[in-house]
Amino acid sequence: MSELKEVGIIGAGQMGAGIAQVCALSGFETILWDASSEAMKRGREGIKKSLAKFVEKEKLTQNDADDTLKRLKNGDSLSQFSECNLVIEAIIENFSIKEKLFSELDDILSPSAILASNTSSISITKLAASTSRPEKFIGIHFMNPVPIMKLVELIRGLQTSDETYQCAVELVEKLSKISVLGIDRPGFVVNRILCPMINEAIFLVAEGVAPENIDQAMKLGTNHPMGPLQLADFVGLDTLLYILRIMQDELGEDKYRPCPLLTKYVEAGWYGKKSGRGFYDY
Ligand code: NAD
Repeated sequence: MSELKEVGIIGAGQMGAGIAQVCALSGFETILWDASSEAMKRGREGIKKSLAKFVEKEKLTQNDADDTLKRLKNGDSLSQFSECNLVIEAIIENFSIKEKLFSELDDILSPSAILASNTSSISITKLAASTSRPEKFIGIHFMNPVPIMKLVELIRGLQTSDETYQCAVELVEKLSKISVLGIDRPGFVVNRILCPMINEAIFLVAEGVAPENIDQAMKLGTNHPMGPLQLADFVGLDTLLYILRIMQDELGEDKYRPCPLLTKYVEAGWYGKKSGRGFYDY
């Protein structure tokens, strides 16, 4: 891990911004870049607010928060990532867009650099195949919200080397998180279980049960800290739909079919918390 100094994060949405925050907080020089300047602005603002909350709760000193922001640079093009030893991609959950990005990064980064994806469901083996360094490619799947959640799933593609895997394990430790080795199948471990449960909750909404009642039932009845529909709004309904479609297509079973109501919400632009409306208003 000693050689891992500069980390690049691509995508400054809810996940990318969170990943950049924890990397910079843990001492890595971090570059964050998003194709949308609006997203960059929102991402950086979100990081500032999140750090300020930790300071307010006395979980972080003001000095540490200031140093974190100093270590976090805004990127303005992909070429700035050329010095990074590790780049973690956290852009939209779409295979062709991710594939294009990885093939561009592959040309820019030094041959020794590691490429990682925060994808929730796309095959790591398939993404790795869009680069000339499949042995240096790995899935590093953070949970939302990244600064709070302890788990990071690690997913080895068919060709991921032991060295790359070890580097990811050490990175996760350095970020004060805990890694679990997942499996390179759609949804890995957490989403394979979580997304069908959320989807079932959406079927209940379609059948007439109020979202508040479903969430309250699951919180009190199963001890979940948050109900499935509130969680769906936090994940992003567009992302959830994409994951379910991949699971249905690739696992080939109808039990993963997205509820038509979810599709309708996404068609309406109701993506959950990030768009201001989902199963709840924000
Ligand atoms: P988001 O919609 O909040 O952010 C995605 C960002 O990617 C946007 O800011 C967009 O401008 C940017 N982007 C799109 N195409 C780009 C490109 N070609 N180059 C650079 N930037 C580009 O999404 P998110 O929730 O942060 O999810 C990002 C990734 O993390 C997805 O792969 C998702 O599956 C995964 N993930 C999401 C969650 C979750 O709970 N939302 C949890 C774990 C993993």
